[in-house]
Amino acid sequence: MARMYYDADANLDLLADKTVAIIGYGSQGHAHALNLKDSGINVVVGLYPGSKSAPKAKDEGLTVHPVDKAAEIADLIMILLPDEVQKTVYKNEIEPHLKEGKILAFAHGFNIHFGQVVPPPEVDVIMVAPKGPGHLVRRTYQEGQGVPCLFAVYQDASGQARDRAMAYAKGIGGTRGGILQTTFREETETDLFGEQVVLCGGLSELIKSGFETLVEAGYQPELAYFECLHEVKLIVDLVVEGGLANMRDSISNTAEYGDYTRGPRIITDETRSEMRKILKEIQTGQFAREFVLENQSGKPGFTAMRRQEAEHPIEEVGKDLRAMFSWLKKK
Ligand code: NAD
Ligand code: MG
Ligand code: MG
Ligand code: MG
Ligand code: MG
Ligand code: MG
Repeated sequence: MARMYYDADANLDLLADKTVAIIGYGSQGHAHALNLKDSGINVVVGLYPGSKSAPKAKDEGLTVHPVDKAAEIADLIMILLPDEVQKTVYKNEIEPHLKEGKILAFAHGFNIHFGQVVPPPEVDVIMVAPKGPGHLVRRTYQEGQGVPCLFAVYQDASGQARDRAMAYAKGIGGTRGGILQTTFREETETDLFGEQVVLCGGLSELIKSGFETLVEAGYQPELAYFECLHEVKLIVDLVVEGGLANMRDSISNTAEYGDYTRGPRIITDETRSEMRKILKEIQTGQFAREFVLENQSGKPGFTAMRRQEAEHPIEEVGKDLRAMFSWLKKK
């Protein structure tokens, strides 16, 4: 089994005399900044002038600077901007301040691995990628626990890059859960594959197709919603807690038998071969090129798909039904 590292394996003192700049204050940014501050690290936040996040960060007791000022005064610069804007912000506001001895950090390998950001050789380049959304990174830290992280070194100019990455992971609470070493390439390719094939792409299509099949056959959309979307969470919780066996233990024997006999008819050889094609597109950079070009041209396809998907009947039914679940958090 791959080696996991915990609190005792990492030395937070390596960041004691350093200033950390968190660039961006979104999902990951707010969690990293607040956790590091609570771990006793000197943190500043870098945002563009007029950012809506600036008052939020200040209210939490953080110092906010424009991105280029934050990059100038910091020793460690963690870029937590959307992947598609990192290149431009890096070029204009961060790169000019990358003096020898500094550390450039990421929470996802996309821009380094696909050559969108090319750092100078005299800085350390590291990654600390929590395997969970930012609000969980923050909440678990406050509860004395932590979200497991991946860490990696792309460039080790100081000879300390690996220890520094582990120290950062400790500062955000990652070593409480356990951290695992990877490479920028492995993290980038598996992350993209997971979100495209299973977590986001695969799951969304599975939910929609099941819903559409029931509604087309004349069943009430409300029931189709319950069966194909709402109950996903109940099943996934069981799977995450104890694996597939734990879920199968909890469901009826009828459901378990249907699982074994019908599941393989949904994910067919054709589906598996498409999965391998999608993986190839990731490995060859074809997906990255497509995403970069889409963003460069102002996201016409992305915007259209976003609108179209938001208008799917399952979203309409969902709005009304979710009002019935008083325990679901209001957003
Ligand atoms: P996000 O969209 O939640 O937040 C991005 C932040 O950047 C926001 O504060 C936004 O205002 C700011 N921003 C946007 N454009 C800017 C600009 N031009 N100049 C300055 N600031 C700007 O992003 P996120 O989901 O936290 O993702 C950040 C990084 O973390 C990405 O590399 C992502 O792949 C990675 N990551 C995200 C998750 C997750 O669950 N969200 C998990 C692991 C890793
Ligand atoms: Mg989003
Ligand atoms: Mg991911
Ligand atoms: Mg991702
Ligand atoms: Mg059922
Ligand atoms: Mg059972």
